[in-house]
Amino acid sequence: MLSVRDLHAGYGESSVLQGLNFDLQKGEVVCLLGANGAGKTTTMAVLSGLVDASSGGVNYDGQDLLAMASHQRVEAGLSLSPEGRKVFPNLTVEENLVLGSFNASARAGRAARLEEVYTLFPRLAERRAQSAGLMSGGEQQMLALGRAIMAKPRLLLLDEPSLGLAPMIVQAVFEAIRKIAATEITIFLVEQNTHAALSVASRGYVMSAGRIVHAGSAAELRQSPEVRDAFIGGK
Ligand code: ATP
Repeated sequence: MLSVRDLHAGYGESSVLQGLNFDLQKGEVVCLLGANGAGKTTTMAVLSGLVDASSGGVNYDGQDLLAMASHQRVEAGLSLSPEGRKVFPNLTVEENLVLGSFNASARAGRAARLEEVYTLFPRLAERRAQSAGLMSGGEQQMLALGRAIMAKPRLLLLDEPSLGLAPMIVQAVFEAIRKIAATEITIFLVEQNTHAALSVASRGYVMSAGRIVHAGSAAELRQSPEVRDAFIGGK
């Protein structure tokens, strides 16, 4: 579904992604692990079109992803739940969700989709008229996930959904991710919480200094010294 080849990207003079290669197959949940500053968020930013690649290629279902504008990527089924959630605090829960569905491919089925999100996250249904800024961190994370699936994605990019959440809430968020995965949406998950990530992903990549340094099944990565090493200094 997605092939990333020799991808380079950065910010001004500073180069962050230094020849990134990985693949995602349809229906998989794959995680991208690595310490702070490894380039995980930059990878998500390049895939969603927020940061330009300086070289390399990304093939998404036969299309040249890097040649597409951000909104065209959303239209093609790629949806990002960003690091730090980025909900609109002064808008209600429902308004935040509706904002996720302004792409043409999602607009038609908006009402039905909203009900699907509310079924997946009953808490959001209870709070639908509340300002998003008054929700707890865990609820805001549910909202960010809900908003991302309002776009009717085929590939969902999740950037650190566990960030800043208490362990019990992390469990609830990952339970929700498991349910989303069961709807056959392909999920690419960036995480520093290796344990949580490997509880839902079938396989993963380890990133360090802008490159993939290791790849393996979830079972293998749980035992892997590369995973341990990637986190030295990062946690
Ligand atoms: P984290 O888990 O801390 O977010 P990460 O693996 O996601 O780490 P990135 O956020 O991609 O890493 O950052 C990679 C490098 O790029 C870091 O050195 C960071 O300082 C730098 N960087 C990130 N965003 C910017 C930006 N907007 N401008 C300049 N440099 C940036």
